[in-house]
Amino acid sequence: MNLTHIEHIGIAVKNLDATIRFYEEVLNLKCYAVEEVADQKVRTAFFQIGQTKIELLETTSPDGPIGKFIEKRGEGIHHIAFASENLNQSLIELQKKQINLIDDKPRKGAEGFNIAFLHPKDTSGVLIELCEKPE
Ligand code: ZN
Repeated sequence: MNLTHIEHIGIAVKNLDATIRFYEEVLNLKCYAVEEVADQKVRTAFFQIGQTKIELLETTSPDGPIGKFIEKRGEGIHHIAFASENLNQSLIELQKKQINLIDDKPRKGAEGFNIAFLHPKDTSGVLIELCEKPE
C-alpha cells in the first residue's frame, strides 16, 4: 500500500450553487471545475487547496448515493479520498487482508480518476476512497 496524500475530501451538500458561493466568497477559494458524474447521480464542484481538493457533491436524483446520505445523515463530510500510486495493487492487498470493498475493481470517477471505495464497516465508519490519477 503506497498512499501519498489526501487527494480530496468529499462533502455532501443540498445546494451546489449556494455552497460554491460560500467557498468562493467567504473562504476565497476558486471553483475550477463543475462536473456531472451520471454514473453516481451527482454534480460535483472542485476547489484546490495545497495538494488537496474539496469535492462538493450534490445529488441529481433523490435515490442516488448522495441523496440517500443526506436524507439519513444530513449535509456534511461524505468521504475522504487518499491518492494511491497503484490502485490495482492496493485493492489486491486490501482483499488479501479481507477488508470489505464497495468496488473490488477500479472505476471511473470525476476528473477521469480511477477510484474505488472501501466499505465503512471496516474503516470505523469513514467512507474511504482510494484514487489514482489518470496517465
Ligand atoms: Zn471522491
